[in-house]
Amino acid sequence: MTDSNSSAGSSTSCGCKVGRITTRYELSELDTTLVEYWTGEASEQYSTRELATYVNQRVLEAALETAAVPIKDGEVENTYRLLTDDDVSSGTRVQTRNELQRDGVPIEQVESDFTSHQTVYNHLTDCLETSLEEPSDEDRLDRSADKLGALQNRTSAVTTSTVEQLERNDILEIGDFDVVVSVTVTCEDCLQEYTVRELLERGTCQCHESSTGQD
Ligand SMILES: [Zn+2]
Ligand SMILES: [Zn+2]
Repeated sequence: MTDSNSSAGSSTSCGCKVGRITTRYELSELDTTLVEYWTGEASEQYSTRELATYVNQRVLEAALETAAVPIKDGEVENTYRLLTDDDVSSGTRVQTRNELQRDGVPIEQVESDFTSHQTVYNHLTDCLETSLEEPSDEDRLDRSADKLGALQNRTSAVTTSTVEQLERNDILEIGDFDVVVSVTVTCEDCLQEYTVRELLERGTCQCHESSTGQD
């Protein structure tokens, strides 16, 4: 009688764990979102590891909604972190689980419904028959630049805090200071030296420069 409602707009769910979760928690948009995020059709591209986290957070969110727990902004992500992150103490985790249980969230069921990145990968490739194109050269350059930038920022932050700490302990004396991290790459043939950022932007050293303009 009302059977038509359930099939409207959603594809037949597969038998894998992700499919079962989709049905159980009524995550009707999940497959579309997973494909978009994985292939980069959405503005950002996610790894299957990040997608597994995304799926699990949606599971947790749905469970909280079903139990009519009011959800504050960022709370799903934070609760998920408290339940799964290695850095969270076991005491905190137990407390989080107890609170959820008290609020009527079937936490054991929810946790057993959490899925791994391998399962998400299999769901994407086998059930949804999605494949990942090679990222474009530009994407690869962008991601490499991001990765190296993050590394340099981290080096800078660790250097700053190390110097500050030594200074606080009167082991080292310095005025106001600035830390600059710069990584250079030198071609052994042309001996031209580039910051790594320059090199990524130029795409070539001096020896190969003449050949790049040609078709
Ligand atoms: Zn599946
Ligand atoms: Zn060179």
